[in-house]
Amino acid sequence: MTNHTFKPGESRDQASLLPARIEDYVGPNNPVRAIESFICALDLAKLGFRHADRGVEVGQPPYDPADLLKLYLYGYINQVRSSRRLEREAGRNLELIWLLKNLRPGYRTIANFRKENWEALKAVNRSFVLLVRELGLVGGTVVAIDGSFFHGDASKASVFTRKRLAEQIANLDKEIEAYGRSLEDNDAAEARHRTDGHGDGGGGEGGDLGAKVSALMAKRSRAQADLDRLEASGETQLSLTDPDARLLAKNGQALVGYNVQAVVDDKHKLIVESEVVNDSSDVGQLHAMATAAKDTLDAEALQVLADVGYYSSTELKACEDDGIVAYVPPSEGTGRLEKQGRFSLKDFSYDGAADAYRCPAGALLRPMKGRWQNTSGRLEIRYASRKAICGTCPLRARCLTPKAPYRTISRWEHEDVLDRHRQRMASEGAGELMRRRSAIVEHPFGTLKCRAGYQHFLVRGFDKVRGEWSLMALCYNFTRMLNILGFDRFVAYMAEKARVARESGLASALRSIPLVLQTFQANITLWLAVVTLRATPAP
Ligand code: SF4
Repeated sequence: MTNHTFKPGESRDQASLLPARIEDYVGPNNPVRAIESFICALDLAKLGFRHADRGVEVGQPPYDPADLLKLYLYGYINQVRSSRRLEREAGRNLELIWLLKNLRPGYRTIANFRKENWEALKAVNRSFVLLVRELGLVGGTVVAIDGSFFHGDASKASVFTRKRLAEQIANLDKEIEAYGRSLEDNDAAEARHRTDGHGDGGGGEGGDLGAKVSALMAKRSRAQADLDRLEASGETQLSLTDPDARLLAKNGQALVGYNVQAVVDDKHKLIVESEVVNDSSDVGQLHAMATAAKDTLDAEALQVLADVGYYSSTELKACEDDGIVAYVPPSEGTGRLEKQGRFSLKDFSYDGAADAYRCPAGALLRPMKGRWQNTSGRLEIRYASRKAICGTCPLRARCLTPKAPYRTISRWEHEDVLDRHRQRMASEGAGELMRRRSAIVEHPFGTLKCRAGYQHFLVRGFDKVRGEWSLMALCYNFTRMLNILGFDRFVAYMAEKARVARESGLASALRSIPLVLQTFQANITLWLAVVTLRATPAP
């Protein structure tokens, strides 16, 4: 007697292992049904997908972009990103068989879809943000901005700076020179050999060395051409594998890739806006990202939190002009004067009513005539103390260099913007907001990089990378939305949305019926008249 100690499983010889209907392959609460309901509600032609508005045409019909989009969204949510793996999964994964109705697109079709529809993928991402806004999942009042580096599909060895190219050329010159000397020595040895009457002197290393020198010369020409190209373009780096990837470095981290900027809403940490750039620095991104988020959220006023890397006076002014209240810790600068034990700008207070600075000794620094442009292009007003007062000041040693007769302070023409920002940063709530900042914005990057393992892009070039980032952001937002709202509520909401859309389509069709009938009546009357005329015999 057999003693069954383990679960036996099904017999492989039985007629049917899986349910007969594909519909039964996935349960009623399977998240794959949420993907289906979201994508079926999208107007893919309006979003710009290729073939989405294709009519009846001759030739082999293409895959419906909705099916390929479902495949990608499912894949990114389940950490399957490569086109070859997606092709495999489409043939063996029951959820995908259900989702794609057993369609099995090839890996080239799958890869081309991601490459060709990068703009449309961005549009889908935005549509989803509008949907979560409709669902009340975004607060729309406080957002945090941050950037994170993602590896590109290129190695460090494929990126050249001017310095690196110049070093490479110098090294190649040395090698060519060394080989040149060897060639000369070789020739001399061969000549001696012939003079001594030992054969024709052939068969030495001359041939090998000549080939090596030619290869080095060719390598040098390529390096020189790259350097010329770099100098002509005005760029600082030349990336050979992925032309848009750059060597990025920040806080001890250095990689070749892209800097992904994300704006994250405070309420549920959903990504509401994002962009891919290839600059290490975040300076210059604050206003563009904040205004894009304000538009997407349709917010009257928006509080934006960012770290010190985003601090820029011109960006803060642009934000203020557009009704965006920014909280960015001021950059400390180099602290050169403090290190020298001298008074810095912090020790001087500005008196707006008198339009003057008051120094630590209590004297006033008055504005000088004219404006000065600083190295970053800002127009500044200079305030100067009086020579006679500084000459007898007991604090002079802490304020001036030995040769300076008086002190000057430069003030940006829009410094009032920075005064208000400083006040805001010193206010009671600012500390708490800055503590929240990292918790808000690091959630999506942490989830995508650590949990999903998305630390690098599979594609090359800005357009395709932006398309792939849109899929990553969409997969993060979609998963998070399902966790917050729940599958049932989302699917019910989408079903209701579809019903309303159907009814409004039906209502507009019904409204057009009288017009259609009128046209039909007019045409039929005309047709009858023509027929009658043709049937009437000529007199
Ligand atoms: S040196 Fe002149 S500017 Fe400096 S603290 Fe003295 S009076 Fe003020």
